[in-house]
Amino acid sequence: MEADTHEASRVRPTVPKILQRAAEYNLTEHCNLKCAGCNHFSPHLPQKFADVAQFQRDLTALSEVMHLGELKILGGEPLLHPDLLKFLHGARDSGIADEITLVTNGLLLHRADPTTFELIDRLWVSLYPGVELPLATDELKYLSDRYNFTLDIKKTDSFRSTTVSKRHRDGAMVRQIFDRCELAHARSCHTIDQGYYFKCSPAPFLTARMALEGEAVINREFDAVRIHDNPNLREELETYLRDRNPLEACHYCLGSSGRRFPHRQLKRGEGHDESYHRELEAAGTIALRSGDRAFARRCYLGAIRARPFKLGPYLRLAWTLLPHGVTRKIAPMLSSRLQHSLSGQLQRTLTPPKL
Ligand code: SF4
Ligand code: SF4
Repeated sequence: MEADTHEASRVRPTVPKILQRAAEYNLTEHCNLKCAGCNHFSPHLPQKFADVAQFQRDLTALSEVMHLGELKILGGEPLLHPDLLKFLHGARDSGIADEITLVTNGLLLHRADPTTFELIDRLWVSLYPGVELPLATDELKYLSDRYNFTLDIKKTDSFRSTTVSKRHRDGAMVRQIFDRCELAHARSCHTIDQGYYFKCSPAPFLTARMALEGEAVINREFDAVRIHDNPNLREELETYLRDRNPLEACHYCLGSSGRRFPHRQLKRGEGHDESYHRELEAAGTIALRSGDRAFARRCYLGAIRARPFKLGPYLRLAWTLLPHGVTRKIAPMLSSRLQHSLSGQLQRTLTPPKL
């Protein structure tokens, strides 16, 4: 009896796993669609396939300390990966998540091995205007009933401008961008990527996308937690998830503060369509509309720094500096177009109206 008590006292208490709502794993970086504004930058990145053995190592190590409500398998386009089934089996065997979701643009679903549907709990099909799927909604519903997975068809008719190719120079603005970022906070778009755990989906792509701009930006070691050979993995993940400091990647991003614009496919050979000063100006106008004058000011200042010879951002900045009482008095004296342009209100178009 005494010996049993002694044994029990040597058993270390089990440390509960970190519970996380969801995380993603990208099977490819490239895609068979070219959506303008894709925040994974897939239309511009070269072909790249994830490695199955790496995936299994990552999930095995992470599952020791973390449990997910949902693991989203995506890309790029995951159905382009010839070893998709191996990834799905690996995801199931790891036991890391309650649910496995396959996120796809649907273009290759008609060619998918039926086992794919046996291995998933949810199929998320993004439906873009003008992009015709080879399987009709009825056929997808039939598959969902037959293989017992949840079907989510998400109509996606607009994108948010997220990534920018210039580094923000205003640290306070970057902090605000991070604070307001739904991808890192509300939406839990955490990403497991080649041995690292990131708190958002655009950050793992920073090095590859900035390489296209001719800039060497290495952020992996600062922006993520190393999963392997890390005896403090659990503690580091906890600290990382609590940390309210922006990532290096946030210096090249607008998070959820950018403008929304209608979905469109890029034309053949068309590059990344982004004008840094215009994106910042639009972010400022959106912030002003939601009453965040401080953030609007930072955005307008950034737009002025980027393009000092444009009048619009100066006028908008001046407007945000005036006390409320003064703007209320001046506003009726201005044309309604100028009034709305300065105040950010009644923005019918998704880009700020020209002054
Ligand atoms: S389908 Fe998805 S991954 Fe592909 S380009 Fe569009 S948004 Fe990006
Ligand atoms: S890089 Fe920063 S701002 Fe951009 S999505 Fe990630 S956490 Fe959000």
